[in-house]
Amino acid sequence: MKIAVLALQGDFDAHRKRLEELGVKVVLVKKPEQLDHVDGLVIPGGESGTFLKLLGEAGLEKLKQFVQTKPTFGTCAGAILLANEVENPKQSGLGALDIRIRRNAYGRQIDSSIREGRFVQDRRDQDSPLEMVFIRAPKIERVGPGVEVIATEGGNPVAVRQGTAMAATFHPELSPDTRMHCAFLDMVRNGH
Ligand code: GLN
Repeated sequence: MKIAVLALQGDFDAHRKRLEELGVKVVLVKKPEQLDHVDGLVIPGGESGTFLKLLGEAGLEKLKQFVQTKPTFGTCAGAILLANEVENPKQSGLGALDIRIRRNAYGRQIDSSIREGRFVQDRRDQDSPLEMVFIRAPKIERVGPGVEVIATEGGNPVAVRQGTAMAATFHPELSPDTRMHCAFLDMVRNGH
């Protein structure tokens, strides 16, 4: 299994390390053209506006096509890029998840925090505690009918999945718990 991590900016190296720990071959990609022979993609945290600038229209288009066919996991800024509706300010993206997401939604006072949320296991109704690192995090304000919530914090959705796309508003690559990445790798193994 070969997973690409988009390495334009942000904390891509923590994802690389985590995926390698889980026995996956990782390629750091800077151009969407390099995605041709990978099984899945991770879009890391960073600044989603900067990602859009660096990708350009052609890059965004290429990424859109990839996301439609292969599993893609976005964390924080990556989650913002996957959403079909972005606020604060409005910006375009990949439109892969039917969610409304608000950038920098927690205000300056709580720029970053580590909180305990709940991880919904194995697509069943059981859940268990999960450490979550939030950094200038966005908030998911609306979840469309086809979207599955896979983690919550304070009763609100913080990780979701729909079709080939999965997103978390926190940074699972910065916590020792590997379950979020394992859930993504399961999607890659199943093809969705
Ligand atoms: N605040 C960033 C954005 O709006 C996301 C922060 C992050 O990825 N840690 O794009």
